[in-house]
Amino acid sequence: VTKAKHPAPSFFDEIVAEVGEGGPPEKCRHGFYLHCETCLGETHALASAIGRHDGAGAAVLSLKAAVGKLFADGKDNEAWCLREHTRAIEEQAKRYAEAADELREQRGILKRRKS
Ligand SMILES: [Zn+2]
Repeated sequence: VTKAKHPAPSFFDEIVAEVGEGGPPEKCRHGFYLHCETCLGETHALASAIGRHDGAGAAVLSLKAAVGKLFADGKDNEAWCLREHTRAIEEQAKRYAEAADELREQRGILKRRKS
């Protein structure tokens, strides 16, 4: 009986598998190579912000479809009323998008022109 020809991957092999072989790894902007609590927290915050924006956006699409159906059914008063609510949520969705963009900008994912 021979021993396994492939020894367990070394710590170094595991790092290469995770970050790839192209060039030296770059430190994050907090000065860490592999693990950074601050980056993890920022990633979580951005994911939450994107999720809020997505959720609000989906709600707006659904409400707009409902408004369209009310108009089509001749229920103009209800349609106008629901449209006002839809606009309020649409404004909220824009604020969520703005918040997500601010987080992206903080992380250097997005560069916005200062107007
Ligand atoms: Zn970091």
